[in-house]
Amino acid sequence: MSFSPVIIIGAGAAGLMCAAQAAARGRQVLLLDHANKAGKKILMSGGGRCNFTNLYVEPGNFLSHNAHFCKSALARYTQWDFIGLVAKHGVPYHEKKLGQLFCDNKSSDILELLLSECRDGGVDLRLETNVTQIDKTDAGYHLTTSAGSFDCESLVIASGGLSIPTLGASGFGYQVARQFGHTLLPTRAGLVPFTITEPQLKALCTELSGTSVEDCVVSCNGQSFKENILFTHRGLSGPAILQISSYWQPGDAISINLLPHLDLPEWLATQQRERPNSELKTLLAELFTKKMAGLLAEQWFASRPLRQYTPAELNEVAAQLADWTLVPAGTEGYRTAEVTLGGVDTREVSSKTMESQKSPGLYFIGEVLDVSGHLGGFNFQWAWASAHAAAQYV
Ligand SMILES: Cc1cc2nc3c(=O)[nH]c(=O)nc-3n(C[C@H](O)[C@H](O)[C@H](O)COP(=O)(O)OP(=O)(O)OC[C@H]3O[C@@H](n4cnc5c(N)ncnc54)[C@H](O)[C@@H]3O)c2cc1C
Repeated sequence: MSFSPVIIIGAGAAGLMCAAQAAARGRQVLLLDHANKAGKKILMSGGGRCNFTNLYVEPGNFLSHNAHFCKSALARYTQWDFIGLVAKHGVPYHEKKLGQLFCDNKSSDILELLLSECRDGGVDLRLETNVTQIDKTDAGYHLTTSAGSFDCESLVIASGGLSIPTLGASGFGYQVARQFGHTLLPTRAGLVPFTITEPQLKALCTELSGTSVEDCVVSCNGQSFKENILFTHRGLSGPAILQISSYWQPGDAISINLLPHLDLPEWLATQQRERPNSELKTLLAELFTKKMAGLLAEQWFASRPLRQYTPAELNEVAAQLADWTLVPAGTEGYRTAEVTLGGVDTREVSSKTMESQKSPGLYFIGEVLDVSGHLGGFNFQWAWASAHAAAQYV
């Protein structure tokens, strides 16, 4: 049996950051992960370029049953702090859009940065280690693992959520929370594509699979996002769809404005006046791909020359394009979701230290908590900030 003052379970974004920062304070840290590699999600993130933070981080970019919880940690470790770390390591990066910062090269630059900080602090990282039992002791916690037994004063749970099991995700953190008397809020997949099963709609999505439409406004339950949407074989994806999926509940309808930059009723009326003999599908082909224009014109509007549409019919065309309402059958689930919504109830965790209010010396950081960010680098910023908060106290 060996002793380490701090043990962190989960060598993902939050666990690596917490280990590095606690070690920088002079704490001896043992970092355990059951996977064969640290930071697998970091490597997969941002399409291989890791969208590691966002220039415009606000508490409003996060979903939680306890909206105020994230504020303190985010204020004490900001996007500028992480950008400073990135600069210190000479990692080249750029803003893609909407404040989203990506590596110029590869996500591995961010993982290497974190591993290098861990090495500098002498963090003992052990992979392929399964924790089979955790017991509370007078001085802290006793862990039984596939690599032997360990004692610690501070135990940090950084094992993430349920999204993408093939990248090492597990419900481990929730089990630990339950064991120590924490309330768990229902979990579901967030930032995830929608599936469509209604036959006609599914056929449309399949036909258009791979087609994206820029700058649509997608709305649901009082939230709206303006970004691209993407048709897929299974349904709909793309940034605007992923964003709204976090606000969607089964059975809810979503509304898509395919052309928010146009005053459609006026534009259609003008086109009818100026070129009455043009077919609607010809008109739509100036706004969408030719294939999409053809399909929409045939399926939705029985395309014909513009002069043949009554004003009421033209208004219907405008309404359909500006408010395409559909009910997704579901989501692709944890298999492809970028985050898990819900999790450990933050009302039982200190927003200053991330320490459990149920069991002293136990900490929860990162995605295992009921804090999920919008798409755009916010989830990593939460991992960095919550990890930093805990690292000052473990
Ligand atoms: C495909 C994809 C792309 C993404 N892209 C971005 C992006 O560009 N920008 C952004 O901000 N966010 C992105 N995210 C979200 C982001 O990756 C997560 O929010 C973030 O990684 C959460 O950090 P975490 O440390 O809490 O959990 P994770 O990074 O998931 O780390 C958890 C760690 O715990 C380990 N673990 C799990 N169970 C156990 C166990 N039983 N025993 C021991 N170890 C265990 C895992 O192996 C893993 O290493 C993406 C997510 C996915 C899936």
